[in-house]
Amino acid sequence: MGIVTKNVNEVLEDIKKYSKNPEKVKLVAVTKYPNVGRPELEELMENGILNFGENRVQVLEAKRELMDDVKDKIHWNFIGNLQKNKVKYIIDYVCMIHSVNKLSLAQEIDKRAAACGRKIDVLIEINLSGEDSKEGYDLDEFYKELPEIMKLENINIKGLMTMAPNVTDEDKIRASFRKLREIKDELNEKYFNGQLTELSMGMSHDYKIALEEGSTIIRIGTKLYN
Ligand SMILES: *Cc1c(COP(=O)(O)O)cnc(C)c1O
Repeated sequence: MGIVTKNVNEVLEDIKKYSKNPEKVKLVAVTKYPNVGRPELEELMENGILNFGENRVQVLEAKRELMDDVKDKIHWNFIGNLQKNKVKYIIDYVCMIHSVNKLSLAQEIDKRAAACGRKIDVLIEINLSGEDSKEGYDLDEFYKELPEIMKLENINIKGLMTMAPNVTDEDKIRASFRKLREIKDELNEKYFNGQLTELSMGMSHDYKIALEEGSTIIRIGTKLYN
């Protein structure tokens, strides 16, 4: 058995073990690393993993070219900080943008989506870590801009995304995942009428905690290839 297959199986087992609703959980394989080439991507696909995550437009485009003959089978997820001027390159194929972190970006996605006749699934990225280095909306800022975001007709807000603080203290990591779930529940009640179904949280080192706290999308890179 290949290393990717072994690791995918392990993560899929962990989903059953740690999530209360394992049937609702999706694994996005993060493929951004230079050592992830065609053999690794093919092995993921052979295991039924078709959601790939990339955090830079240029690298995403290179990966698509590498998989040109099968690229339409793959669901490309954009998970990094997205510059407005790059939206146009990915808008006609990207399946979900996890990282909407400002109104102007949401507006650009909306405009470009309309132009190509699509409605794009997006997540709002919230920065709960208090760390400046992390991308994502400051919570107050998000609530301020939410009414304007909700007017955009060509984006489909499916839920929220966060990255846990870069600490070893499990309680702090767990608290940030729990907080994201609480924010989602509150938004559903006040504004979205239950329409927010997704919580994109959990990476290689913290996905088990994220699953326990209700994650529906885990974004795993490193663990799959080593
Ligand atoms: C790189 C990355 C991941 C995956 O991280 P690993 O530690 O390799 O699992 C998940 N989410 C985002 C936004 C990333 O940039």
